[in-house]
Amino acid sequence: MIPDVAVIGAGSFGAWTAWHLRQAGLNVRLMDAYGAANSRASSGGESRIIRAGYGAREIYTRFTLRSLELWRQLAAENDPTLFHGCGVLWIAPQQDAFAQETVETLRNCGVRFERLTERELESRYSWFRAAEGSWGIFEPDGGALMARRAIQTLAGKLSVERRMVRWSDQGPVCEDGSRLVAGAYVFACGPWLPKLFPGLFGNKIRTSRQEVFFFGAPPAAQFGPERIPCWIDVGEKFYGFGDLENRGLKVACDRHGPVVDPDTLERVPSAEGLQAARDYLSRRIPCLADAPLVETRVCQYENTATGDYLIDQHPDHPEVWIAGGGSGHGFKHGPAVGEYLSRRMLGSGPGEPRFSLASKVDFEGQGPESTFYR
Ligand SMILES: Cc1cc2nc3c(=O)[nH]c(=O)nc-3n(C[C@H](O)[C@H](O)[C@H](O)COP(=O)(O)OP(=O)(O)OC[C@H]3O[C@@H](n4cnc5c(N)ncnc54)[C@H](O)[C@@H]3O)c2cc1C
Repeated sequence: MIPDVAVIGAGSFGAWTAWHLRQAGLNVRLMDAYGAANSRASSGGESRIIRAGYGAREIYTRFTLRSLELWRQLAAENDPTLFHGCGVLWIAPQQDAFAQETVETLRNCGVRFERLTERELESRYSWFRAAEGSWGIFEPDGGALMARRAIQTLAGKLSVERRMVRWSDQGPVCEDGSRLVAGAYVFACGPWLPKLFPGLFGNKIRTSRQEVFFFGAPPAAQFGPERIPCWIDVGEKFYGFGDLENRGLKVACDRHGPVVDPDTLERVPSAEGLQAARDYLSRRIPCLADAPLVETRVCQYENTATGDYLIDQHPDHPEVWIAGGGSGHGFKHGPAVGEYLSRRMLGSGPGEPRFSLASKVDFEGQGPESTFYR
């Protein structure tokens, strides 16, 4: 039987799109070259922050609210440990426009948050030494999604075929050269999109190398997710997680690394990256300055020049849809992205100009330094 839709890519965007299309009663095949949330995939990381703060970009705040409902549902129905509701703490420099706009947007959208003075930051989070003049935003409903496990849980319900699909002049073809036949296609291939559609994306999606470090927590429980929130240090462009599942505290820099190929990238972290993370700990979390490195990960962002997602139809093939451009912040929004795309495909939802292919521009020079300010 010819499926209504073939979804290629079982990361957060593809798996949730397949889920929504199935909920709408469609016959959907979901396939992935390396399996759901694999080690190369952006969704294959241990954990991802879910936050509602997005500066003035209200659509992403609203996507978080909707996504949180569906992540909570997934966790409640399958495994409550897929989401840790530990909250998200923003630490912002004094005159930070992005953080000010975040406060406005959270207020406008009715999102619960607390605004914290420098003194409140100090007394509440004594393990954190904020830069002078800092202030904070605490989102109590945010937290940490156990990314790989969550996607594998979702994919387990959908069943994923392990299959590489290429785009050719004849349309989608499988590895053995046979055509992949379906009513419509969704390419949710994250950092692979520029390789799959070089003519379309050339320099519009850039895949950057990102390093993640896990530092061993002290034996006592003071760094568990029940004790400390995920944090985003806006001025330093570092972020982190408490000791989730006893894997250590995760610390990473959000600055975009060099361009890489997700198929062939050797995932060995650099000595400079480790030193930068250690220096950060010395400045901001001095009690962990000498904590041992217990695990590492090298992953990639799939950035657009503005950090906005790409969710649109192929300009020459209306039966082909593309979802990607997660830009270092897309995981959390998989449920809302899938809902948006499935509605667009079914002709029942309006298009958002921000997500259109037409709005995507080529990178100029180095492109933006990081994700949080976009
Ligand atoms: C270090 C790091 C930290 C991050 N932190 C956060 C965070 O805290 N919060 C947050 O919300 N987001 C975060 N992100 C971003 C987020 O992880 C990504 O935006 C999101 O996971 C992208 O999902 P995706 O489904 O688009 O891509 P992917 O997860 O990469 O999935 C694409 C899938 O397509 C498959 N595929 C590719 N080509 C083919 C082909 N030809 N045939 C078949 N299958 C194919 C791949 O195998 C892969 O499984 C972070 C990313 C990184 C790297």
